[in-house]
Amino acid sequence: MDMQKNQYNVLFACSELTPWVKTGGLADVSGSLPHALRRAGAEVKIVVPGYRAVLDQIDRPQYVCHLDLPLGPVAVCCTSLAGTEVLLVTHPVFSNRNGNPYMSDDDRAWPDNPYRFALFSQAVSEIGLNRANLDWQPDIVHCNDWQTGLTPALLSLSHQRPATVFTVHNLAYQGNILYNAYKELELPDALFHADGLEFWGQASFIKGGLAYADRVNTVSPGYANEIKTTEFGAGMEGMLNSRGERVSGILNGIDEEEWNPETDPYLKQNYTADSIDLKIENKIALQQRMKLPVDKDIPLLGSISRLAIQKGIDVLIDAIKAMPDERFQLAILGAGETDLQSQLSQLADRYPEKVAVRFGYDESLSRAIEAGSDIFVMPSRYEPCGLNQFYSLRYGTVPLVTRVGGLADTVFDVDSSDTKKDQKNGIVIDAATTEHLVDGIQRALVHYNDKAQWKALQRTGMRTSYSWNRSASEYIALYAKAIGDNLNRMSVTRYANV
Ligand code: ADP
Repeated sequence: MDMQKNQYNVLFACSELTPWVKTGGLADVSGSLPHALRRAGAEVKIVVPGYRAVLDQIDRPQYVCHLDLPLGPVAVCCTSLAGTEVLLVTHPVFSNRNGNPYMSDDDRAWPDNPYRFALFSQAVSEIGLNRANLDWQPDIVHCNDWQTGLTPALLSLSHQRPATVFTVHNLAYQGNILYNAYKELELPDALFHADGLEFWGQASFIKGGLAYADRVNTVSPGYANEIKTTEFGAGMEGMLNSRGERVSGILNGIDEEEWNPETDPYLKQNYTADSIDLKIENKIALQQRMKLPVDKDIPLLGSISRLAIQKGIDVLIDAIKAMPDERFQLAILGAGETDLQSQLSQLADRYPEKVAVRFGYDESLSRAIEAGSDIFVMPSRYEPCGLNQFYSLRYGTVPLVTRVGGLADTVFDVDSSDTKKDQKNGIVIDAATTEHLVDGIQRALVHYNDKAQWKALQRTGMRTSYSWNRSASEYIALYAKAIGDNLNRMSVTRYANV
């Protein structure tokens, strides 16, 4: 392993990858950050499970090797995505299922997910140890979320190993399994203890990353601080505090070419900060598409979200009910919990002139909402980073967000006396409660009526850069620290063994 260079070999392990397979923000990060790392000088290979959906979208992946893993044999194939090499870990548990990577069509988690992602994590470890016929030794194995959490734990069992970085995109999804299930996976007993994978008697995949990676980071500095508290730590705060300065936050970026109102092919009308008046054409198109009354002047609120309690959708529903006489429209696109879906349907039935909802995953409609809305609502209870506030800022759609995690790091309230005028870009509420959200929406409506000030808010967002280049250089600096930690470990262990 050559530790002197600064152009690192990076193996980037993830369970979702835009544009091939996406359930949320992790896919967008995986589809952007590796390319940005490459532009910053790193040599990157992405590794992802060979899901059916992925195999169907690529031409003839090249066979690389077979790996005889403790959990069974897999084949590793390779292809490329926007110039970055992608390794596919193929096995029937990935390639024989359609659709969502984690769930069946009836929204139930695949019962063998622990097996599937333990298998994937084992494959990543082997590739990380240069045992996959690639003649390529990563300096860094960069893992993401619980699906890859076992990899740093497994790698920790090898003295001579690459450095590891583990990124938390959402701490609430932990991959916790009963001890019996852990035993069935025949994972090493040496990893099952309070400072390792053990979590209240269960085994936790995410804890493998938190406990064993040389460096842990989350996708915003705000969330990195929050997860060390009992309120946001999801039971992992003790472990995270014990890692001290090895836990940090790096704010996500966005793919500014992919999300550009000037060129976005999904939009009825393209526009820029200088031609922002053209945005109205997208509003009219959205009202027509969502079957809302067409009205240029009525403030149009938009929301695109996983339908989950985390996202504060229940709060949004209550806030709308609390403002029957307020003049605005709301367009929502969401997929997720059936209870929230039926509550949203009821809301749209009750206020058909005001509220329109669509369910399912719909890239085209999501772009139309980003461009066509005036205000984008994100009343999240917690938000590791959030991407839609970036997309909204870029599309001149003023975000209304809760002061949590990455939202607090990126949206600056129009009424705040602490924020400089040229940084104000949205509306921030203190907490995801009905009262705060009603107040936030009312404030947004007042500001919307001050056309000159509103345009200034929109332009501030549109003119700020949120590119991955800044984040990529922060990741490279984090890799350097992880490599330093790993070298220290090796030399300390060697010294201890003398
Ligand atoms: P999370 O990863 O917690 O779901 P993020 O804000 O980080 O939230 O990322 C969500 C991503 O998924 C965004 O790109 C958003 O536009 C997209 N998205 C969420 N729900 C839908 C949907 N129903 N249809 C299309 N895109 C969606």
